[in-house]
Amino acid sequence: MDTHSDVTAERTEFGFSRTSCDCHKCSVFCKHMPGFLVPSDLTRLIPPDADPYLWAEEHLRASFGALVPSPVGMRWIPSLVPAKSVEGHCHWLKNGHCEVHAVSPYGCAFLDQHMSDREAQRRSEAGREARWDEMVREGLYEKLWVHLSEKGLTYDTGDVDRQRIRSSLTTIRRKEQSVMKASRRRDLRKKKRLARKRKKASRKRRRN
Ligand code: SF4
Repeated sequence: MDTHSDVTAERTEFGFSRTSCDCHKCSVFCKHMPGFLVPSDLTRLIPPDADPYLWAEEHLRASFGALVPSPVGMRWIPSLVPAKSVEGHCHWLKNGHCEVHAVSPYGCAFLDQHMSDREAQRRSEAGREARWDEMVREGLYEKLWVHLSEKGLTYDTGDVDRQRIRSSLTTIRRKEQSVMKASRRRDLRKKKRLARKRKKASRKRRRN
């Protein structure tokens, strides 16, 4: 797929810089819960000569998004997300790599597992506001969302996906902890060996 890499140089969005981590923890989301798009992602992702509605049917799904507090009470802010493959992965995930990395959606490119909760919150809020504005002014983002919903091309970020993410992250953390423990044990053994050698050398010196 043409990823329009020429429009991605020094990519920033809402004043934030993009992240580019593809470690196991960050890739878990590609496997279970692809990141959401903001309106400007459409310009980057949809090829100029493509029909946006047909393109969206193939590549996107309408999600109910997030229920968030607002000055007028709780409100739903819908989102567009990448379609999933039959295996349940993001359909742009091929052989462990993102096919659209250079222009990947905001939710993938600007959020990762290594930033603080506060930073992730600020970035998510900026994305939600942009989505909400586009819904209110009935821009392309809103039109595609309605089109996909009417066609039944929807995506529900359900408990099953969240549970899969939690369990994948727990497995990764356990592996990391066991690698750290093994490395600490190795260091300890090394220190003990060194101490024994020093003791032996000092005994030898005393005898001479
Ligand atoms: S678009 Fe790329 S980064 Fe985002 S979920 Fe899909 S494969 Fe992962």
